[in-house]
Amino acid sequence: MFLLKIFHYIKGVSEWTKRQNNAFSFVPTMGALHAGHLLLVEKAKALGRPVLVSIFVNPAQFNNAEDLQKYPRTLEQDLRLLHDAGVDAVFLPVTEDLYPTELPEVSLDLGSLENVFEGQHRLGHFAGVIKVLHRLFSALGPRDVFFGQKDLQQCLVVEKLIARFFPDIHQHNIPTRRDPQTGLALSSRNVRLSKQGVVTAGAINWSLQLALQGKTVDEGLTEARSYLENKGITIEYLDVVSLPDMLHTEEIVDKKTASVFAGYVEGVRLIDNHVFIDIPEITVF
Ligand code: AMP
Repeated sequence: MFLLKIFHYIKGVSEWTKRQNNAFSFVPTMGALHAGHLLLVEKAKALGRPVLVSIFVNPAQFNNAEDLQKYPRTLEQDLRLLHDAGVDAVFLPVTEDLYPTELPEVSLDLGSLENVFEGQHRLGHFAGVIKVLHRLFSALGPRDVFFGQKDLQQCLVVEKLIARFFPDIHQHNIPTRRDPQTGLALSSRNVRLSKQGVVTAGAINWSLQLALQGKTVDEGLTEARSYLENKGITIEYLDVVSLPDMLHTEEIVDKKTASVFAGYVEGVRLIDNHVFIDIPEITVF
């Protein structure tokens, strides 16, 4: 029978990582796992090395106590999914062990990423992401790490973190997995939406495509905005940006431009993005 190893403390998990000679792949998550997370696991498995997944609802990256408290937690089901996906080990950190009081602050210059979009609307969010990932990468020393493009700005922040502190780690950014019926990006937060809410939220995916298809960027954004407003979706931000700096752009360039969105459906905060690719993927929903 296949056994999933479960660790709670840095000491135990780092003994395991040393036994792998650090030749393992790492997928950090906050749990409430869905097929999007499992796509990251699948890609990690495809490298052929052992796979470690962490589940930690990181208090440091929540700027809103209610959001943290409402974050879905489904540990038993998560462990079953990870077992069935063939994951080798799971790390479920204990806050005091992960964040001892003497842990030094990590300072990382995020440049233009610091004060836009998620940086602007979730104050302290990226400081929390940097804190947890710096601690996990330092303690575990993975060779490969997997992130979802669903959190595009996070991918770019992690690229900076790795470039600055962990040059030996290979980062893999995996395209967003979507609900096949509606096109809605899979997210742990979707469980808080009603059936109708899921259908409504599917409009986000289309609006992001519209934003990249206007005669001008301005025209695309105007169409996308009114499409969302007609569906009753509250927009927090909607923009077209250049990559990797995420500054507003008027010019659409293959793989170097993205449309980005955050907003609310039924009071649930959702984010999504599309990276412009010259040959459009033909997806029939
Ligand atoms: P989270 O548990 O939300 O912190 O997500 C853990 C990882 O899974 C992050 O790197 C996310 O970007 C990634 N992820 C979340 N949703 C999706 C999705 N729909 N498709 C692909 N990756 C995803």
